[in-house]
Amino acid sequence: MAGTGKFFVGGNWKCNGTKDSITKLVADLNSASLEADVDVVVAPPFIYIDQVKNSLTDRIEISAQNCWVGKGGAFTGEISGEQLKDIGCKWVVLGHSERRHVIGEKDDFIGKKAAYALSQGLGVIACIGELLEEREAGKTFDVCFQQLKAYADAVPSWDDIVIAYEPVWAIGTGKVATPQQAQEVHVAVRDWLSKNVSPEVASKTRIIYGGSVNGSNCADLATKEDIDGFLVGGASLKGPEFATIVNSVT
Ligand code: PGA
Repeated sequence: MAGTGKFFVGGNWKCNGTKDSITKLVADLNSASLEADVDVVVAPPFIYIDQVKNSLTDRIEISAQNCWVGKGGAFTGEISGEQLKDIGCKWVVLGHSERRHVIGEKDDFIGKKAAYALSQGLGVIACIGELLEEREAGKTFDVCFQQLKAYADAVPSWDDIVIAYEPVWAIGTGKVATPQQAQEVHVAVRDWLSKNVSPEVASKTRIIYGGSVNGSNCADLATKEDIDGFLVGGASLKGPEFATIVNSVT
């Protein structure tokens, strides 16, 4: 069963960029020609969101890379979902492996973040993915299903969620999953959604792949039926290469 959603490509700029480099990246994105039938989103660091919002074409939507788990208030250093909405964000990336494994965020905390972000009208790019040792121990599906369950237990609806399957061993390493490896997990995720949420949600929810996607490997990955787009880190910092990835829609 393949997905029925529109191709979706997100650029996760992570903790990269300066005012100057972002001015250049935005100019490159503004002049890129992008296939019409693709949802395109970029996620700048919080402090540059306003700059990007004020200079980037409306063709590309803006995402944050994280947000606080609930309503704002006395939470030093955090940014709330309400504030993201206020500043013009449409999306937020949650559960990224760097948040899980570097910062230590846990499944249930991430599930609560997703529920709160949705309640504020944000779309959620909900990341899942296994560590290398989990893959080698044959636990890829168990890990992904456990992470999915944490989202499913917390959210009231999947309408505004895109799932990003990002094997941790492929992120920032140059070791991209093969199209077959990615497809295998995407099918398993769709099957899990079908059994545990509903067949309708399973077919409508976009499942995108992330982990060392670039201008050279995107076309092969995009041929797989259950790969509904990409979440791109390093290669999203180069406007023309990001455009190539967007245009790999088949
Ligand atoms: P990468 O990052 O493309 O640099 O591997 C992907 C991601 O973390 O979303």
